[in-house]
This record gives sequence, C-alpha cells and structure tokens, in this order.
Amino acid sequence: MNTSEKIIGIDLGTTNSVLAVIQNGVPTLLPINGQRLLPSLVGISPAGEVLVGTPARNQWVVAPDRTVRSIKRKMGRGELVTMAGKSYTPQEISAFILREIKQGAEAALGYPVRRAVITVPAYFTEVQRQATIEAGEIAGLAVERIINEPTASALAYGYGLDTDQHLRMLVYDLGGGTFDISIIELNYGVVEVLATAGDNFLGGDDFDERLANMLADEFMEAHDIDLRQDHQAWARLLRVAEETKIELSAAPFATANLEFIARDLQHKPLHIIREVSRYEFEALIGDLLDRTITCIDQALGDAKLTAADIDRVLLVGGSTRIPAVWDLVSVRLEREPHLEIDPDAAVALGAAVQAGIIAGEDINAILVDVTPFSLGIEAAEFGITGHLQIDMFIPIIRRNNTVPVQKSQLFVTMFPSQDKIQIKVYQGESPIASQNVLLGEFMAEELQPNRPDGLTEVTVNFQLDINGILDATVTERKTGKKTSAQLKASRQRLSLEEIAQSQAKLDVVYGDSRGEMEFSPLDDMVQIVDPGVAVLLDRAQKTLARPDLDGEMAAEIAGVVMDIHRATADSNNEKIEEYCDRLIDLLLEVE
Ligand code: ADP
Ligand code: MG
Repeated sequence: MNTSEKIIGIDLGTTNSVLAVIQNGVPTLLPINGQRLLPSLVGISPAGEVLVGTPARNQWVVAPDRTVRSIKRKMGRGELVTMAGKSYTPQEISAFILREIKQGAEAALGYPVRRAVITVPAYFTEVQRQATIEAGEIAGLAVERIINEPTASALAYGYGLDTDQHLRMLVYDLGGGTFDISIIELNYGVVEVLATAGDNFLGGDDFDERLANMLADEFMEAHDIDLRQDHQAWARLLRVAEETKIELSAAPFATANLEFIARDLQHKPLHIIREVSRYEFEALIGDLLDRTITCIDQALGDAKLTAADIDRVLLVGGSTRIPAVWDLVSVRLEREPHLEIDPDAAVALGAAVQAGIIAGEDINAILVDVTPFSLGIEAAEFGITGHLQIDMFIPIIRRNNTVPVQKSQLFVTMFPSQDKIQIKVYQGESPIASQNVLLGEFMAEELQPNRPDGLTEVTVNFQLDINGILDATVTERKTGKKTSAQLKASRQRLSLEEIAQSQAKLDVVYGDSRGEMEFSPLDDMVQIVDPGVAVLLDRAQKTLARPDLDGEMAAEIAGVVMDIHRATADSNNEKIEEYCDRLIDLLLEVE
C-alpha cells in the first residue's frame, strides 16, 4: 500500500487521547512521545512554548491559568477559553492535541500522515461532530470519518467485522471525567444507537478527589492544617490519590506516601504515610459507582430492553479496571462483562480498524491472550444467618483476564489462635470450590495475628504468566512474611462434555467423603479447651463424616459447630452452653 494512504485512528478523549493504526493487519497502539496515552491537556509555558500532554498536565497543577484541560466538554459550544491571557476556540485547543498526535504518528511510522478517523461520544450532536472535524483540519488532518466511541469499542472486539452478525451490546465507558452508557445494535453490518445515558461529570477524577479529601480531612484532624488551601499540596494529594487508586485495582492495600507535605508552627516538616485498603476506597466511591448502575437502568428503559436482551457487555475507559465496577455491572446485567481489550486503548484500536477498512487494508482480529478459567482459592465465610458457608470458591484472577496478570486479595483467619491456613488453589467457574479443578495446595504456617480481635490478615497474590504458570503467594500482614507455591494452570478449555464428566467424577468423590472434606479445615483451625465441649465436637465431626447424612442437616450441624468455636473465641460461656444444647439436639436427631 502506498504509505500516503495510511489512515490513523484517534481516540480524542476528555482525559487522555490515544493513537492506533493497522500494522501488518493488526490494530496496534502507537506511542506518542513515548507514552501510550497522551493526557488531553494543552498549556503555554512561561517561556511561551506550547505544551501538550504530560508537561501540560504537570503545569496545570501550578499554573491553571496557562493551561487547559477537559476541552472536549466544550466542543461545539461556541464558548472561548483563555490560556495565558489569549483566547482560543475549543477547536483550536483540540487541534494542539491532534497536531501532537499527528507528529507522534509520523515519528513512529517514518512517513507523513494526513488522514484520520476520530471518535466522539455517541451523544455528540452534529455541531459537536463538525467541531471535531474542524479541529482535525486545523491540525492538518483530513478527517475521513467520525465514528461513535461505543462503535469503535465494538470494532476493537471484532464485532461488526462480520456482516452477518446480529448483536445487541451495552458499552459501559468510565473514563477520567465522563461516564457514558451506550446500547448499540449491530444489524448485518449496520450499527444503530438504541440509547445513550451517562454523566458528563463523573469519572476517575472524582474518585481521586474523594481519596484526596479523605487524606486532607485526616491531616486537618491531626495537624489543624487544611491542605486544600495550599494549591501545590492539594495537587500533590490528587496525584498521589490517583496512584493509590490505580494500585488498589490490583492489590487490596496501597500506601499514599506524601513526604514533606506541610510544616507545623515550629517549621517541623509533616508527612502523610497512609495505608488505604481497597475496601475502604470502594466505600468512599460506592455512591458514585451506584450512580453508574442507575444510568444503566435508564439506558435499558429508554431502549425498552431488559438485561436479558443484551448479548454483550463491554467495559471500556481506564476506570473500569476498578474491580468493583466489574462486580457491579456483572450483577446488574447478569452476565460477565468483557474487559479483555485494554480498556483505555479499546476506542483507539477500534478507530484504527475503521481507518483500515476505509483504506482497504486486510484486518485480523486483535489477538489477546486470555485465561480461559478463573483461578482462586477455597474459603469459608459466616453468612448473614451466622451460619458457616464452607467450600466456597473465591476467584482471584477472573476468566478472560488478559495474561500476564497479577491480582491479590485479602483474607482473614476464621479464629483467634489459628496460626496456619491451608491454601487450596482451584481453577474453574463453580462457586463451590470442590467442583472446580484443584491445581494444588500449600500451608502458610506460624501466622501472627495483627488484628485486635486476634485474627490474622493475609494477602493472597496470584501471578499468572503467558505460559500458564501460576505463582501463588501468601503474605502475612503483620510481619510481611511470605509463603509461595508455583502451580501450573491448565490453559486448555475443556469441552462441555469433559466438564460434565469431571463434575460427575467429583460428585462421586464429594459424596464419598463430603463430611471429611468439609471438615478437615477445622482440624487446624481451632483449639477447644473445655474437654466436655471437645468430646461433643468430636461426636459432631464423626457424624459429619457419615456419607448418608442429609446435606441440609450437615450444613446445620456445621453451622452450630462454628457457632461454638466462635463463642469459645469470645469466651462467651452462656452462648457456648446454648449452642452445645442445640448441637446435642441435632445429633440426637440423626444418630
Ligand atoms: P477518557 O476516556 O476520559 O479520556 P480514560 O479512559 O483514559 O479517560 O481513563 C482515564 C481514567 O482512568 C483516569 O481517571 C485514570 O486514573 C483511570 N485509570 C487508569 N488506570 C486505572 C486503574 N488501573 N484503576 C483505576 N483507575 C484507572
Ligand atoms: Mg474515553
């Protein structure tokens, strides 16, 4: 192909802009100034130089009057913005960004580029689309086509390349400052937007702000200094809040570290070193995430559809890497959303696909290596009724995650004085651990409790490489002591028949030794001091080992046994007696 025919794909985002092209038939990101994402900020330096991307982002913190961000929100509004004392149209500001992208493309490809496909939100009006085309022209780019961001995401996933496809998709796009829901229908090569909803002022920036405010509040409490009044301190707080947030997408804890953030009255330097848990962060932003679910309801309502009418759910935008987003969306839409294609690159990759189609290039689907199974561990949990649920499968790396991948999650021992835990690693999709494939097991021993209630927190980290080698590591919170094991995950997807066979096989084994399997953890889990109680528990354990025991009864007995352990841990003699009486009644019923 004549290189002058090359068309580039551009995601001109509110927060970040991304560039992609078809290379050897494959949609590929091209770095701009060495970075995957170009922050969508423009500024003028004190020396009068134009700054685009990261330098502008850095300057915004200290010189907001010389810097412009989020210009996309103003596109097509006929409103001017001021930068370093001069006024510009939104098209002009966007053109600075597009020019940087054009130059980046030329640097990467080694030849001039003139043509582009640019994406816009599905709800953009004709005026806003026209403004985007003008921005391209100002930057020296012929805009071959404007396409909708959700359509681009679908194209990145390869949907719509086949003209005999009929699919309804919901695209959930949570970026830095905006949230868009689009329901689109691919109908034999034609894309129709059925509904759009969202919030133009909701995204990752708000999450950063919530976290930064929490840190500032705590600092205020401790030192009576409001960091929000200090421009630079606040900017640093926001930056660190974002880093911490991003870390929390992969780990259950992250530390916000801000040394020399202020000085006290004696001029002594003050620092913030604050560990934040994922749980805490999710609680901080819970209401914002709930709002996104309300938008889903609204879009479904507008399209007169229900969750069951949606064939695919795609998650795009950097903020969809927050695990709680996946969880909320999968519950609301009753299916597993897709997140295999880099969520902050999907739109640009789709723009490149469209560009390639226009230029007449052969296009192969984007190849992503994914894990075909979820990987996780067995755990037990006290349910709302206070009864113990055992043999639960807790996924740590979910199916369809791109590899390599690393994820970790927090677990807590069941009882005070428990000084070891057995980690059983499973692969599969059943919520019942023993119905999945056991990859291996190992013990973490000599644990030291770190919580006031005597329980021990551990982080379980899974690292899966492209060859399916899984490194599982348990890290004790108190001492940081690590116990690891290397396991081999099966990368082959079993046929439905094979799965059914394996399940039947497991059912047999499960039926044979259910009591024992369910109860083996108890052996290492508790110490009961009262000999009378110990004898009773022993009797319960024998009963639970009986293969003919009714499942419901087994659960009930197991629950009371756990209640006894719990009451023992609390030294609550009244409760111990009450539960022992209950246990005796139950045992009499079955013996
Ligand atoms: P936009 O489409 O608005 O230009 P992006 O899709 O690039 O934005 O998303 C940018 C947002 O995604 C930022 O707020 C950034 O902090 C957030 N983000 C990026 N990676 C992660 C991550 N791993 N976890 C949580 N948020 C992330
Ligand atoms: Mg975007």
